[in-house]
Amino acid sequence: MSKENLAPYAAFAESSRGRRYAEPKTAYRSEYQRDRDRIIHSTGFRRLVYKTQVFVNHEGDLYRTRLTHSIEVAQIARAVASALDLNESLVEAICLAHDLGHTPFGHAGQDTLNACMREYGGFEHNFQSLRVVDELEAKYADYPGLNLMFETREGILKHCSAKNARTLGALGQRFLERTQPGLEAQIANIADAIAYNNHDVDDGFRAGLLSLGQLCEQSLFNDQYETVHARYPELEDRRLIYEIIRRMINKVVTDLIETTRSNIESALPQSIDDVRARQEPLVAFSEDVYAEHQQLKRFLNKHLYQHEKVLSMTGKAQKMIEVLFGRYMAEPDEMPAGFSIRATDERSKARVVADYIAGMTDRFAIAEHDRLT
Ligand code: MG
Repeated sequence: MSKENLAPYAAFAESSRGRRYAEPKTAYRSEYQRDRDRIIHSTGFRRLVYKTQVFVNHEGDLYRTRLTHSIEVAQIARAVASALDLNESLVEAICLAHDLGHTPFGHAGQDTLNACMREYGGFEHNFQSLRVVDELEAKYADYPGLNLMFETREGILKHCSAKNARTLGALGQRFLERTQPGLEAQIANIADAIAYNNHDVDDGFRAGLLSLGQLCEQSLFNDQYETVHARYPELEDRRLIYEIIRRMINKVVTDLIETTRSNIESALPQSIDDVRARQEPLVAFSEDVYAEHQQLKRFLNKHLYQHEKVLSMTGKAQKMIEVLFGRYMAEPDEMPAGFSIRATDERSKARVVADYIAGMTDRFAIAEHDRLT
């Protein structure tokens, strides 16, 4: 994308804070396109296809995985970035990489690994996504990781504890000063929430865990249900849900673009650094849509993520992660040599075990658990 087509407060490779290791430019791709391509070719990205979002990977072929989730996030974010004349390649790179640090078995896996790591510095999935692209991917002869641009890494690190932020230099600064990242990073963050709110309604309904009656108690859903039902009274459930979901996505994305545009018009940032200096994000929903979006999120939290069928699966997943962590701590040689060699003391051993477990797909974690027990 040429510089002329972007807003002055977009991220530009020319004024980027750059890569950790200097590299020559290429002839036909922008720096952020290169980042996106490095992410697509990474090992971590390929594993996302076998990692859970809500449903364990082997429970059915029709549910979202972390890979399809990441692609949907990227689609939503690119549409928003393009409408606001922001850097589409950068938002795409951030979105495709945002979940690279996720453990197997979704949030249950992450919470369990964090609990296992309590005495050894904890486990944060956003920080782990950054670790994957900065340290763990082994693809280049000259440096560890993927050597991504500062702005891509800034977007991947959505949240970070103050303790970890202090180890990151300029990248961690905003978590200590409570300032904002660039607009592309802000878009990727909200696109993540838009994607899961909507696809979890779809997956939850098709899995039979959420009913139409329950969903119609949510105003975001019900408004679109009434529109679709009035126009197509005989429509079968499957198509009905899809017609509703695409209208819900359209409504919140349109609101996000228009609210953000008006926020930009009042704040008048002249550069990405003006955006970064702010305490509040510029990328935002209107108050009404934000309230509806949060209501749907709370609904899903209560009725889908805490559904007894989902919880019975997460209970098993927690036990498996605990068993794996205990076994590798006791017998690091059960891990591949590339990992066990880094285990020089208790703390580094725990970090290596966490890296190894976090990188596993759902089915590999199950196979390893079965092999070791
Ligand atoms: Mg996500």
